[in-house]
Amino acid sequence: MPLQIAFDNSYARLPDRFFARLAPEPVAAPSLIRLNDALAEQLGFDPGLLRGAEGVAMLSGNRMPSGAEPLAQAYAGHQFGGFVPQLGDGRAHLIGEVIDRQGRRRDIQLKGSGRTPFSRMGDGRAWVGPVLREYLVSEAMHALGVPTTRALAAVSTGEWVMREGRMPGAVLARVASSHIRVGTFQFFAVRQDIEGVRALMAHTIARHYPEVDGALALVRAVVAVQARLVARWMGLGFIHGVMNTDNTHIGGETIDYGPCAFMDAYHPETVFSSIDQFGRYAYANQPQIAVWNLAQFATCLLPLIDDDQDAAVEAATAAVHDFADHYQAAWLHEFRAKLGLATAEDGDRALIEGLLARMAEQGADFTRTFRGLADGTARDAFAAPEAFDAWARDWTARLDREGGVAAAQARIAQVNPAFIPRNHQLEAAIGAAVSGDFAPFHRLCDVLARPFEDQPRHADLGAPPGPGEAVRQTFCGT
Ligand code: AMP
Ligand code: MG
Repeated sequence: MPLQIAFDNSYARLPDRFFARLAPEPVAAPSLIRLNDALAEQLGFDPGLLRGAEGVAMLSGNRMPSGAEPLAQAYAGHQFGGFVPQLGDGRAHLIGEVIDRQGRRRDIQLKGSGRTPFSRMGDGRAWVGPVLREYLVSEAMHALGVPTTRALAAVSTGEWVMREGRMPGAVLARVASSHIRVGTFQFFAVRQDIEGVRALMAHTIARHYPEVDGALALVRAVVAVQARLVARWMGLGFIHGVMNTDNTHIGGETIDYGPCAFMDAYHPETVFSSIDQFGRYAYANQPQIAVWNLAQFATCLLPLIDDDQDAAVEAATAAVHDFADHYQAAWLHEFRAKLGLATAEDGDRALIEGLLARMAEQGADFTRTFRGLADGTARDAFAAPEAFDAWARDWTARLDREGGVAAAQARIAQVNPAFIPRNHQLEAAIGAAVSGDFAPFHRLCDVLARPFEDQPRHADLGAPPGPGEAVRQTFCGT
């Protein structure tokens, strides 16, 4: 049975200046590293066929199935605060859209699939490190319940890619509710192409916010989903690392897993990315940066918000400032749940902040501390546990007012994961893969698919890095 995919490519029907049509560049010897069977089925694909020659040919970009309309999307973006009027897919091809089993429109995109008119000096390729990293972290985020792009497959290319040295090449097949970014709007706005902004807005509303009416309501909707998204990141100790406007998704998904990382030891100023010299994208800065990015988004829509420019600015500013309320509510909801609180009291914020302050003072492991609240081992994450014990007395008293610690513990284990993609484990899995051993990668994938279950056989993957194991820097790895 041949591979047949019912593509319905709405982005390809937008005006020509939205993208460049071109096929991926074929690779020498594609070989499937991993296929996400569950996601494939959700998309209505037959995993068996995807594993076959035709499937791998599609997933590597070597042959496009009928109905695919491959294209590279145009976008702009602020990178570390500096505006770049033209970025675009320099190493990615949107091959088409499908409607999944739940009736949701999904982009199928290849990343590392060759040069495009947006490649600038880049080679259009990816090496196996960032491909496996994105596969692992995006799928872990999904399992943790965070809105995110997904990984459908990773394929090795049989070609070398030149980075610091010669690295094995790979292609990631990525699935997303769209690849529309704040930077996509900026691409048209900076060209004063109001008709372009208008067409993109109509497409975005139809696709992501069918209930929304008009530009101002769209700003409000995106502000709300971004506030919830960043609160989820904060609740997991996740640092995106490169919150540029081209990496800010209009539908509220986490996108672009470059130098991202989960903290081990908690400190609000933590930064991993080697290129983030001034800590612009540090853990605690993420909400503010989201506001900054949303202000750029609102700016693109000003001419569509009101003909009177002052009125447009005033309305847009108010809509962006609503972020604070959405975020504070989402953050409290997130951390109340992490402490097992089912009710709300005025002192809850102080209680949460009291724990975080003690964790920061002692560099307690973020994930172990919160998970430990479910089984009485949280104090073990502290070098001087008396500080935790003092806090725990207040916490216990607080829980006693609503049913007690024991009743809360099952709830706590459902929201505080035992397993996150720890940096040192990601690096170990990538190192092994580069030397041809994919077993640690597959094991991590399997364990991270069930992050809230104790998996005693895999306790090593839940443990914080030992002395000398901690990874302090991550790289864009493009
Ligand atoms: P990112 O760091 O993934 O957000 O990428 C920023 C921009 O650089 C995007 O326009 C990418 O398409 C482009 N880019 C990154 N790596 C490459 C590469 N190897 N070849 C061509 N373009 C690239
Ligand atoms: Mg990007």
